[in-house]
Amino acid sequence: MSTNDNNSNAYSDFHLQFIGGEWQKGKDDSINTNTNPYNGDMLVEIQQATKDQLNEAYDAASQAQAEWAKTTPAERAAIMYKVVSILDQRQDEIVDWLIKESGSTRIKAMVEFSATRAITLEAATFPNRVHGEIRPSNTPGKENFIYREPIGVVAVISPWNFPLHLTQRSIAPALALGNAVVLKPASDTPVTGGLLLAKIFEEAGLPKGLLNVVVGSGSEIGDAIVEHKAPSLVSFTGSTSVGKHIGELANGGEYIKQVALELGGNSPFVVLKDADIEQAVKAAAFGKFLHQGQICIAINRVIVEDEIYDDFVERFLAHVKTLNVGDPSKQDTAVGPIINEKQVKSLKEKIAKAQEEGAKMILSGEIEGQVVPPHIFTEVTREMDLSCNEVFGPLVGIIRAKDEDDALSIANDSMYGLSSAVFTADMQKGLRFARGIRAGMTHINDISVNDESNTPFGGEKNSGIGRFNGEWVLEEFTRTHWISMQNEPRQYPF
Ligand code: NAD
Repeated sequence: MSTNDNNSNAYSDFHLQFIGGEWQKGKDDSINTNTNPYNGDMLVEIQQATKDQLNEAYDAASQAQAEWAKTTPAERAAIMYKVVSILDQRQDEIVDWLIKESGSTRIKAMVEFSATRAITLEAATFPNRVHGEIRPSNTPGKENFIYREPIGVVAVISPWNFPLHLTQRSIAPALALGNAVVLKPASDTPVTGGLLLAKIFEEAGLPKGLLNVVVGSGSEIGDAIVEHKAPSLVSFTGSTSVGKHIGELANGGEYIKQVALELGGNSPFVVLKDADIEQAVKAAAFGKFLHQGQICIAINRVIVEDEIYDDFVERFLAHVKTLNVGDPSKQDTAVGPIINEKQVKSLKEKIAKAQEEGAKMILSGEIEGQVVPPHIFTEVTREMDLSCNEVFGPLVGIIRAKDEDDALSIANDSMYGLSSAVFTADMQKGLRFARGIRAGMTHINDISVNDESNTPFGGEKNSGIGRFNGEWVLEEFTRTHWISMQNEPRQYPF
């Protein structure tokens, strides 16, 4: 039991939707039964929202946004600072929800809490950072002004793995820049992915209607949230397959919308022969098994130069065997439960397939409930399923590379391009190698799992379109408007 279960001030009523600033019951027949992935405890039952309620949310957002866009930067920044202070006051309550709803270990919940706090603080600076430009004109007497304005209403669809942070990294910048939001959290994490943030923004004094959280089934509101006339931007974070569908919907229907797509990954973690092997082993374990490997930027392929392959494997195996597996609420647990049974089934299939394809399983363990212990496979090749596809679980394949060139070729042999990492003692070599990787992010002598609120986060190829954080998100969540002013009569040819 967390400290906050006894806290009379703790937020409650998570069975309700947040629409137009009011907490109301969903009107759909279906129910979202929200359970703890570790022990199956029922957390809350949410009557889901209907399409009509989604429309209501969009109406409220459109109305509220018009007024919000007129507020001063200081007013919007103040809300963000208030949210940061509430996050701090309610840290235990929030961490507790992340553990019980998303199966986060305590370590992961703290990582997620810190990232959420950081992006909120960063967003507090956005109202004053957004700016226009004056550009010269080739037309006599003309002045060119380039304005950056709020984009309007933003649809946000977020995943279950880092629900609080990945939702907040869309909604905080959106709101700070004068937009309104209609959010659909993932079905496995309606609280940490949405309703909890709604409580926090409400407490911070965000005017009604600017943030709406609609919990509903994909079949009832999934496509409708994208196709609705109101949103000018759809900010989607999730799998590549659903992302492609969202992209098609956003641009193939009646209304064309901008899309920001943060999709799947297949991060390579390359260990070159001159690397500090002990450090690389610790990094590989943390970058692979944090949150049970359910992170888009988690290490998905470990690629090791031939000369040190056996040494690396031996030390990695020894280190991973020391990790505690099980109850995520315990302080020293490294590997907790998988989010749902469907994902567990997919991991079981991947384990079977890896063996069928000839990979050597050097570490396994009993799968109990939704807890899947670390599995390590060696002699994995670039063609195998473990190398080609996103694992999203605590299974890892280690690939042998002939030399540095071969390692780079394997690293780039993927339809994804999100994050990546390389270990070497030679920083110049590391930089050269990093620049050779086709990905949005590469970390030298560190894990692929990095996210800082002031650096561009995002991928290329099938990992998506767009960047989060810092000034990059300012571009995503505003619209550009060129306004010219003709100060003297212009001579027209006819
Ligand atoms: P998912 O694609 O299954 O679901 C993401 C969200 O989309 C959920 O809210 C889901 O309810 C919603 N959704 C599903 N079908 C929809 C539809 N037809 N219309 C509208 N919404 C729909 O992904 P997931 O399983 O929640 O998350 C795991 C995936 O997300 C992994 O592939 C991971 O790599 C990726 N991910 C990417 C990033 C990133 O920043 N690039 C971050 C986290 C997760």
